[in-house]
Amino acid sequence: MRNGTTHCRYAEDVNPAFPAEIMAKPGGEALRDCIQCGTCSGACPMSVHMDLTPRRVIALTRAGLERDVLESATPWLCASCYECQVRCPRDIKVTEVMYALKRRAIEKGMYPKRFPIPVLAKAFYNMVATHGRNSESRLLIELAFRTNPFSLLKMAPIGIKLLRTGRMALGQDHTKNPKEIKAILDAMEES
Ligand code: SF4
Ligand code: SF4
Repeated sequence: MRNGTTHCRYAEDVNPAFPAEIMAKPGGEALRDCIQCGTCSGACPMSVHMDLTPRRVIALTRAGLERDVLESATPWLCASCYECQVRCPRDIKVTEVMYALKRRAIEKGMYPKRFPIPVLAKAFYNMVATHGRNSESRLLIELAFRTNPFSLLKMAPIGIKLLRTGRMALGQDHTKNPKEIKAILDAMEES
């Protein structure tokens, strides 16, 4: 994870369409009203763990520095507590912007590599879209293979116990009509 220090940026690093893309998402509309006061960063309980503070995420998004923002761990570490949002003096929907950035990151496949949260979110969505339902064991195995295969060795003893006691199954669960779930997800994507 990068530490968010300021480094030189060039014209080719800028995607001029990026600010408008995020402003078009629900909650992103007021992005340009930010006065960079830093209240959001000061209020955020997760900011000490973030590579970019919420204030910087807003600034870089407005500047069109798409890769810096989408490859940051910050949107994925956001706990959706809304502290930043209720305190912002300019009514910027910071939490909603974080959601918009996560959606954009998944759409573009531009997120911190081997960072588990976006991989998990994408695998979960694909599983529900295909089968109508999540299957915990398969999801965990897919997550491990895509991020840290060695973690399977660590998880194996507890996984075997759960399988033996019938608290976890290896099969793929599915709803009677997964296409209905897919239609709902598609409608949400379009809205
Ligand atoms: S609190 Fe609001 S106005 Fe201040 S930096 Fe954060 S988003 Fe911008
Ligand atoms: S909603 Fe996210 S960014 Fe805002 S204060 Fe909470 S953890 Fe921080």
